[in-house]
Amino acid sequence: MSSEIHSEEKTNLVPAVCTQCGAALEVDPSQEAAVCKYCGTAFIVEKAIHNYNIQHATIEHADNVTVDMSGTVKSVLNYMGEQSKERRAFRREERREEREHEKVFVGTFFKYFAILSGVSMVIWLIGQALGLFS
Ligand SMILES: [Zn+2]
Repeated sequence: MSSEIHSEEKTNLVPAVCTQCGAALEVDPSQEAAVCKYCGTAFIVEKAIHNYNIQHATIEHADNVTVDMSGTVKSVLNYMGEQSKERRAFRREERREEREHEKVFVGTFFKYFAILSGVSMVIWLIGQALGLFS
């Protein structure tokens, strides 16, 4: 029992991935080739270890990307939310200003209309007085 553990420690198994079926394996790097216990295919130990390293690195990388992505997506959403909030506020402000302008415009229009009416009334009255339109 104890010798078995000792020998296992001695073999120093490292994680690897079968080059054929992709199963997770433990291989002895001191050996050149091994046979996959899942698919029975003989593989080069170095390649299987390399496979594992690639997969491991890719998964680690993918995790980082996922974290970065969710962070980016969150910040983009936040940014978009802020943007639309700002836009809404801006539009509200714009509409308020438009209404103000409208009021001013309508006020000015009525002022000019009143002046014009007054002037035309005066012209009409003068015309009436002078008998031009009769
Ligand atoms: Zn395999």
